[in-house]
Amino acid sequence: MISPIRLVLVTAFSNNLRGRAKYATQALPQLSSEKYDVKRKNFAKLQTKDVEHFKYLLGDERVLTDETDVLPFNIDWIKNCRGQSQVVLKPKTTEEVSKILTYCNDRKLAVCPQGGNTGLVGGSVPVFDEVIVNMMLMNKVISIDDISGALICEAGCILESLDNMARDHQLIMPLDLGAKGTCQIGGNVSTNAGGLRLLRYGNLHGSILGLEAVKADGTVIDCLKTLKKDNTGYHLKHLFIGSEGTLGLVTKVAIHCPVLPKAVTVGFFGVENFENILKLYRSAKSSLGEILSAFEMADYESISNTSKNLNLPNPISDYPFYVLVETHGSNEAHDEEKLTKFLTKEMESGLILDGTVSSEPKKMQTIWNLRESIAGAGLVKGYVFKYDVSIPQKFYYDLVPVLRKRMGDKAVTVCGYGHVGDGNIHINITVPEYTKEASSILEPFIFEEVAKVQGSISAEHGVGFRKPHYIHYSKDKTALQLMRDLKQLMDPNGILNPYKVLPEI
Ligand SMILES: Cc1cc2nc3c(=O)[nH]c(=O)nc-3n(C[C@H](O)[C@H](O)[C@H](O)COP(=O)(O)OP(=O)(O)OC[C@H]3O[C@@H](n4cnc5c(N)ncnc54)[C@H](O)[C@@H]3O)c2cc1C
Repeated sequence: MISPIRLVLVTAFSNNLRGRAKYATQALPQLSSEKYDVKRKNFAKLQTKDVEHFKYLLGDERVLTDETDVLPFNIDWIKNCRGQSQVVLKPKTTEEVSKILTYCNDRKLAVCPQGGNTGLVGGSVPVFDEVIVNMMLMNKVISIDDISGALICEAGCILESLDNMARDHQLIMPLDLGAKGTCQIGGNVSTNAGGLRLLRYGNLHGSILGLEAVKADGTVIDCLKTLKKDNTGYHLKHLFIGSEGTLGLVTKVAIHCPVLPKAVTVGFFGVENFENILKLYRSAKSSLGEILSAFEMADYESISNTSKNLNLPNPISDYPFYVLVETHGSNEAHDEEKLTKFLTKEMESGLILDGTVSSEPKKMQTIWNLRESIAGAGLVKGYVFKYDVSIPQKFYYDLVPVLRKRMGDKAVTVCGYGHVGDGNIHINITVPEYTKEASSILEPFIFEEVAKVQGSISAEHGVGFRKPHYIHYSKDKTALQLMRDLKQLMDPNGILNPYKVLPEI
């Protein structure tokens, strides 16, 4: 498990103590409120009596107030945002969450819900002195049904642990992402996380069967059903999926787990240009059909930098683009044959320049590791501006060369990679250090370009703290007003994750 403290990433996630020691010697990120010039809202300030009350509710051990202990919970994964919270609460039950929120709502203390703190848009850390409610101790699996595939658990369960447990029952979690060793299912639900196999298993609005959440005033909303079909009134669970902790705190989750595939095969291919990737995607869908579980792409810069910065092997030579294809099926020989046939056919056609196919767990892991590590590889070289956009597939890669030209020598690297099958590209721009000048070259330019092709400015990471003032590029005024109305209804004092998702009027 990865702690919320992390400085050098992905392959070098550290344990708590090592992380803490590093904070002592490295420069801290600038305070978010100063960096982004935000004004504190009129919430109450934490007083000694509040801390005493929290200790009365949770006991001394689960109320952190020591500055060094609290610091890692104030800083986000990419070290872009830093809050100023003075207290971290670690509830163990829904009842405790409810009591905390009732108290905070009455006192008008702002709250920042926090899961694994792997979010990439600054939503998981406070901006000012919000009370951090970290869900790590709500980590029990309640039940798992081998027949229906329904797993019920508390929100703080780590995604990878759930997947390991599901595998013992011949099931898998329907989502997988590079942060699986740290992110929590409650965080996944609250961000509507997509990930690597959305192409095959769909998004969480489909997989989440039910959930339990606590509203800002402490009311527990029980929608923890495991039924596949339940059309009794409004589908309230969807309000909490993707609302990034602004409408309620998710405390329990019921999720549908697909059957563990008997055969998994991974192919990693070199490709000449992006046009050929799209042709290859079409061909993969028709040749591999129902067994296709992932179709990922990365450009040369993504792979070569990850390989160099994190010392990870690239199993094939250098190519302008790479494609990772994975199949989940029920017959290893059949699936490997299908993938090898696809490889042979497309090598002959010239769409694939070189490639490797494997069903060996170790080899597959090496390939996935390279792909999953791209997200953190740039951080070794400086500050990374991260964009996560949905774009119609025919324009998918167009922005990357445009941004390379626009940034010129101000960028160390500009790389594009992502989930081609979902039209979701991640663009990472590494610069030696954060500057407002670099930021203004990129924003709002990128969002304007995305809006021109009817894309989304956030495909899967959410809006968080970083993007509320750009949300209008993807949501019209009437939709935004309805979102404000919902927020007002569910959290009239606005205590839940303020400064996030909705823009200031
Ligand atoms: C290496 C890496 C790879 C990643 N890959 C992907 C990817 O492929 N796809 C993808 O979608 N994301 C990806 N992410 C982003 C991130 O991992 C996901 O957004 C993840 O779902 C966040 O989960 P978390 O538990 O860390 O939540 P946090 O980061 O702690 O919180 C995220 C948001 O959810 C809220 N929140 C957390 N828990 C709760 C709760 N119980 N109740 C209410 N609100 C809550 C927080 O307030 C915050 O707004 C990646 C991140 C990293 C570091």
